[in-house]
Amino acid sequence: MKFRSTRSGECVSLDAALSQGLAPDGGLFVPERMPQIALREFDESDDVHAIAVRYLTPFFAGSELSDALPEIVRETFNFALPLVDLQPFVDAPLSVLELFHGPTAAFKDIGAQFLAACLTRLDAREAHGKPLTILVATSGDTGGAVASAFHRRPGVRVVVLFPEGRVSARQQQQLTCWGDNISALAVRGSFDDCQRLVKASFVDQQLTTQCRFSSANSINIGRLLPQSVYYAVTALQYQRTVGRSLNWMIPTGNLGNGLAAVMARAVGLPLGDIVFVSNANRTLVDYFDSGEYEPRDSIATLASAMDVGAPSNLERLRHVFGESAALQASGLTSASVDDARIRGQIARDFARLPFAWCPHSATAMHVWDSLDQQQRTRDWAVVATAHPAKFDTIVEPLIDCPVPIPDALAALLQRPARFDTIDATLDALRTKLM
Ligand SMILES: *Cc1c(COP(=O)(O)O)cnc(C)c1O
Repeated sequence: MKFRSTRSGECVSLDAALSQGLAPDGGLFVPERMPQIALREFDESDDVHAIAVRYLTPFFAGSELSDALPEIVRETFNFALPLVDLQPFVDAPLSVLELFHGPTAAFKDIGAQFLAACLTRLDAREAHGKPLTILVATSGDTGGAVASAFHRRPGVRVVVLFPEGRVSARQQQQLTCWGDNISALAVRGSFDDCQRLVKASFVDQQLTTQCRFSSANSINIGRLLPQSVYYAVTALQYQRTVGRSLNWMIPTGNLGNGLAAVMARAVGLPLGDIVFVSNANRTLVDYFDSGEYEPRDSIATLASAMDVGAPSNLERLRHVFGESAALQASGLTSASVDDARIRGQIARDFARLPFAWCPHSATAMHVWDSLDQQQRTRDWAVVATAHPAKFDTIVEPLIDCPVPIPDALAALLQRPARFDTIDATLDALRTKLM
């Protein structure tokens, strides 16, 4: 299987697409064609690992990693991804897919663990004098997931750049608590400054002669492939037990999670309608309404991991699946939920559900709650992208009680934190990297 750039159409192997992240022409890699898998081809596959290997095998055809695929799958899917039935609480066929039981309590753990498993294997094929440096800019969740996934992997060091004072206290702890081969730098500036420094480092002559760089950013195809696995697994298991297809409400920022669902459906898995749910950043909703794509600056909301004004994976969606009219004809839609509705949903649902939503997941639940009676008779899944304990300062005042902390997160909160602070200049970063 080859992977094609959305811009020049140039094709590369999976291994090159994973290592490069972004195509040299600035485009994003997409599968050259979507493999088709008939449902009966999963008949022998019962558990998550077996379904994942069957699903990913065509994407890995011709890759140097194909023999290691079962191990990569085991390393990636090493925590529960439960589909929890909410019918008893809402009197309709609604479930929630909980993607937050990993080490940093957000779905980013899945993509990060898969990328770490693939990149360390690809890199180990050659003997290098110096370690691979993974440089990540983060606005909150990605950096912690990447740090956790690469922690103590030999031959790799991770440097996380985050904007000083602009991440939540618990997110900062998850970026700065690792030690060993992970270091964290607070940048006196914004997330955009952090991203600019990463890009500048990759083309800086002095740095690139000293360090071997790689990125683990959100546009790597290695994020999408494992994310589409949990849609494949859940859709298949629901079809087997209930006999119907699930329809989906997916919290959306860069559209990586939503696009992964569309991919699983295109491969032949039984997913029905898919709703991309944004916060008050309306770029995607406006695109679906007007057919015109107008990127803009993001605005800050309670669901901060979805504060995206130019969703990068829209380029992939349009390239592979067509423009707004065609997308809507195939059962894809989009909706926007503002902060007041997020607050209201978290507070109201805590009275009827046995848990609280994180602000991101609450956007998706709000759209389900706004469906008419007839739509509610269909089978829906709301995707929960993070644990509410990560956003305690937002959620606790709304529900008026503490959110229990999952064990993995509690363990991270106990660890000593360490980071340095730098000015938002390449010179300042260079002294830390060399
Ligand atoms: C990253 C993130 C999102 C948005 O996912 P995309 O793949 O960028 O659309 C939603 N919720 C949480 C908690 C996230 O960390």
